[in-house]
Amino acid sequence: MSTPAEDVWLTGGTVFDATGREPFRADLRVSAGRVAQVVPLDPTSRPADRRGPGVAVEDVTGATVIPGLVDAHAHVGILRLHGQAALPAPVQAALVFAILADSLAQGFTTLRDLGGVDGGLVEAVRRGLVPGPRLLPSGQIISQTGGHGDFRGHVPAVSSATAGSGGCGHAHGQNPPTGADGLTLPMLLVDGPDAATRAAREQFHRGATQLKVFATGGLLSHGDPLEAPQLSQAELRAVVEVAEDRGSYVTAHAHTPRGLARAVRAGVRCIEHATLVDEATVELMAAHDVAAVATLTVSEVLRVDPASLGAGPVDPGDAARLRESAARAIALLESAGVRVGCGSDLIGERQHRRGWEVALHARLSGASVALQRATRVNAEICGIADEVGTLEVGKAADVAVFDGDLLAHPELLMTTRPRLVLAAGDVVSRGSEVLA
Ligand SMILES: [Zn+2]
Repeated sequence: MSTPAEDVWLTGGTVFDATGREPFRADLRVSAGRVAQVVPLDPTSRPADRRGPGVAVEDVTGATVIPGLVDAHAHVGILRLHGQAALPAPVQAALVFAILADSLAQGFTTLRDLGGVDGGLVEAVRRGLVPGPRLLPSGQIISQTGGHGDFRGHVPAVSSATAGSGGCGHAHGQNPPTGADGLTLPMLLVDGPDAATRAAREQFHRGATQLKVFATGGLLSHGDPLEAPQLSQAELRAVVEVAEDRGSYVTAHAHTPRGLARAVRAGVRCIEHATLVDEATVELMAAHDVAAVATLTVSEVLRVDPASLGAGPVDPGDAARLRESAARAIALLESAGVRVGCGSDLIGERQHRRGWEVALHARLSGASVALQRATRVNAEICGIADEVGTLEVGKAADVAVFDGDLLAHPELLMTTRPRLVLAAGDVVSRGSEVLA
């Protein structure tokens, strides 16, 4: 990438530091991969000349300088919900690597992957073999038999070929492979606390940084009722205890109140989607300081481009109700004082709409709140707020620079890419492509 020994000055831009402070004009210096200085500009004095030996100057006058974006709900390895295993493994890997590089180009310097990939992909990025964001993998999603993660179909089709290939001693009840190992891991079916404990430990063994469970049914799935809680209190508690012993946490997919409340009482720290919450549930979340990650992009993509998700025809009424529910949920969560983050939940071969999530949150909650969710709040939820999420001195220099006034026009996140992206101080993307 760029020469790391060089200091970089981003001069003349409007800095949105995501601490809650109003945007302000400032010069920002990056040194040794960190934010080293933020110097507010006095409009009356002449701009300082930042040039010098070992210094690169990027004039970003007229642009908005924000912390690198964090997608708190990604699935970089899920290229297709069905049939991915038929793609050659090298093709799957190439597509996943392209998704990682493209995420940087969209200004996303951190992705929390909530199911599919393991620590192997992190290693490939860390060694510099493929360009990609900071990646927080969850390994296999932990589900109950007959739950949201049960992909065996209604008739368990256990052929002798798949039954013998599991190698884990309980292959009779497991999902078939979904794709290349380490890129698209099948969801893991557990029943009973002992199986839950083992499943949780297994994910940390293969590099998970947090765990993901299914605590209710899903909206676009069949065979598991949306209202039904999934995993017992004892099973959820077993997973939570393993995570706590690792200094980590569990996040739970939950749409409906019963399963959501059970997961909160079992000690999960975060709820994904939280689409159909009621007042009692949001108060319980607030009392336990449990965060929510709202996911608005998928229902918007269903409205404008359902084919890209590989979904069949979707009843426009259903999609509209889903959007209304999500908007109502965000209002309830906000009024209860629950910390709300955001995640795109994108799947597919081209995951080029991560910025949509931020723009959609801006429509509901305003641009400043939306940008804070996609940076500082998501970093807090991911447990990495000491390192990233704001543009404060000492933080890792993960920075995205968008042409124009992002606070006045957050919809730019749907239509343009940042002109400049830095990850840990290195320039990783350049050029503000306008999206079709
Ligand atoms: Zn998801």
